[in-house]
Amino acid sequence: MLDQFGRSIEYLRISVTDRCNFRCQYCMPVEGLPWLPKQEILRYEEITEIVRQLAPLGLRRLRLTGGEPTIRPDLVALVQQLKAIDGIEDIALSTNGVKLPQMARELAAAGLDRVNISADSLRPDRVKAIARRDLGFDLIAAAKAAQDAGITPIKINVVVMRGINDDEVVDFAALTRDYPWHVRFIELMPVGELRELTWDHVVPSAEILSRIATLGELRADAGPPRGNGPAVYHRFAGAPGSVGVITPMTHTYCSTCNRVRLTADGRLRTCLFGDHEVVLRDALRRGEPLRPLFEKALAEKPKEHELLQMRVGGLRALSQVGG
Ligand code: SAM
Ligand code: SF4
Repeated sequence: MLDQFGRSIEYLRISVTDRCNFRCQYCMPVEGLPWLPKQEILRYEEITEIVRQLAPLGLRRLRLTGGEPTIRPDLVALVQQLKAIDGIEDIALSTNGVKLPQMARELAAAGLDRVNISADSLRPDRVKAIARRDLGFDLIAAAKAAQDAGITPIKINVVVMRGINDDEVVDFAALTRDYPWHVRFIELMPVGELRELTWDHVVPSAEILSRIATLGELRADAGPPRGNGPAVYHRFAGAPGSVGVITPMTHTYCSTCNRVRLTADGRLRTCLFGDHEVVLRDALRRGEPLRPLFEKALAEKPKEHELLQMRVGGLRALSQVGG
């Protein structure tokens, strides 16, 4: 399946819910967002049907995201259904990790291949301040649970915010010398309800790399196996894990973008930014074939996103578009 610029689309990110048990400062207001009513959210059978229709067109890899996917009841059943679809080779999960210690084994047994855990601090008081919820999240316990369950590689996503957690980049990087984990530092993006965060909080990736280089020499690395993401990886000599940077603000990945997104209410979005989307849910509920809609979506996938040109306005939170 190729788009109008010859990029092949084999990777679908599926938002299973717009709700979350956290309220990360960069993602959601404390009071939450206007949640989608239940009947507007795709049922698991509907998500599975969309993937079943996309697989013969070349779809190979899936990521379950949100909102927080692990708070939707019986996520394990969805993983099982998706894993059974011919052509689907790889299923990943993006999670804040709170429920991983209790769910990792079941998810692995259902067929989950790998996981990205979001973690912005290693200090409990800061986790609480950034997530604005006290759920006892402990990154080490969450990542170890995934590792023990065999869900690998494990990637850890850290949104770096100046004056809030940027003094921890060295501690996060040091984890990769002790564990086979892949820590990725993400530049803060100006989307959603960033009432408390501004451009002054963005720490450019070059600065992040020079700060962690105080730990030792960093070498360019191919990165973890089975990755689709837009990260550039580095490794300390002899380290089992790697360090990466994801730089939406200072570089774009659009020319190699291989992904599309399915929102919780059944819209296929071909770019994280901007409003390129096609509604699948209504046709699906009427029993109509989806292929013409897939083709329309792909024909409209933009060449690059509009964030860098600052032609933005009213961008929605990542939790609403399946970040
Ligand atoms: N709840 C899950 C989680 O936190 O991993 C999945 C959804 S979350 C929207 C996906 C990713 O988007 C997380 O790694 C989060 O840190 C990132 N994210 C959300 N808002 C962001 C922002 N304004 N800038 C940079 N990254 C952001
Ligand atoms: Fe929830 Fe993930 Fe957004 Fe944090 S980043 S509020 S965990 S959806």
